[in-house]
Amino acid sequence: MVRLGGGFLGAVLDLDPGYAGGSLDCGQGHRARFVGYRTRTIDTVLGAVSLRRAYYHCRACRTGVAPRDAELGLAGASLSPGLARIVARAGAGEPFAAARRDLAELAGLELTTKRIERAAEAAGTRVHAAAEAEAAAILAGSLRPLAPTGPVETLYVTIDGTGVPTVPKETLGRRGKGPDGRARTREAKLGCLFTGSGLDARGRPVRDPGSSSYVSVIESAERFGDLLYAEAVRRGVERAARVAVIGDGARWIWGLASEHFPGAVGIVDLYHAREHLYELGRLVRPDDRAWLEARLGELDGGAIEALLAVVGEVAVPDAAAVRVAELTGYFANNRERMRYGEFRAAGLFVGSGVVEAGCKTLVGGRLKGSGMRWTVKGAESIISLRCAEASGRWEEVWLRLQPQTCAA
Ligand SMILES: [Zn+2]
Repeated sequence: MVRLGGGFLGAVLDLDPGYAGGSLDCGQGHRARFVGYRTRTIDTVLGAVSLRRAYYHCRACRTGVAPRDAELGLAGASLSPGLARIVARAGAGEPFAAARRDLAELAGLELTTKRIERAAEAAGTRVHAAAEAEAAAILAGSLRPLAPTGPVETLYVTIDGTGVPTVPKETLGRRGKGPDGRARTREAKLGCLFTGSGLDARGRPVRDPGSSSYVSVIESAERFGDLLYAEAVRRGVERAARVAVIGDGARWIWGLASEHFPGAVGIVDLYHAREHLYELGRLVRPDDRAWLEARLGELDGGAIEALLAVVGEVAVPDAAAVRVAELTGYFANNRERMRYGEFRAAGLFVGSGVVEAGCKTLVGGRLKGSGMRWTVKGAESIISLRCAEASGRWEEVWLRLQPQTCAA
């Protein structure tokens, strides 16, 4: 049945070989001359299909041009747009070798693992480039995305980072946490945006179901900030009654927050803050559970000054002095972002559990498998595909990327 469909598709494609007269513009300003009709074979969802199309040659560029290829979305590609989309989805969802087996079993599509890897990463790279171009246009004011029309009560912008294992060339000269002091990973920055409205019966904030969308970039805080802001505009930041940014204490997060969301409530994730407090307790009052409980109580209420005052009076062992200073600095610098009592009273979330879950599933679930080593470009492309899918934008992304698919 599939082979019959492939034959039919080939016949339909042959109806218009894309003859455009004796010569045409090669794309670089020269005239390319018609040479004849040439046949090429492409892989499609219906198997290999050969198609005959008009072929032109530019002497100045020494390249061939087949206008039909571009029309069909086949320029520089050996997979049809429809097959490329399927392969991208499979390769984004599971390791490439597993994707190969599933495509063969579920759809009778026989492709090599390497081809799946290349095609999925190429597709992801295009998806990511399109998202960055869109973000640039939004920032420049030349594009206004369709923001939600209804009220946006609270827009949460939650931010986190997670390490992606990379091939050695991506970490050359970078210092890391490994035993030899060398880096093994690069940081994927991930943003999760969601909206919240109202409180549940027990007075806790509620996340609007299905309202999460994700953006991610490897390393660059600047590019990440642009994508994040553009996504916030798309999610209605300009009409949101309030905006809350939640992250751990990382400096880059709060730099981005003040740049892009100056009016937002900044909240340091309570669980990160608690972990820092546990560590501080171990250093200055080991095995003093009551002391720690009292400090946790102060933290929970957002009484950071009281907490710091108590910590300031404790005798610190010399060996721990540097780390204790770092930890108290963390609380002092972030104090306004730790007013948990006030945040709760205002009906705000105080934890970044959503984005951390995102880091685990979106990034870790696909990129941190045993033995995996990524290039930065490859990792970014696969994460982009996964973000598009998790944001419910899979269909939209492909329509924007390949409008010719509809015509074809
Ligand atoms: Zn030319």
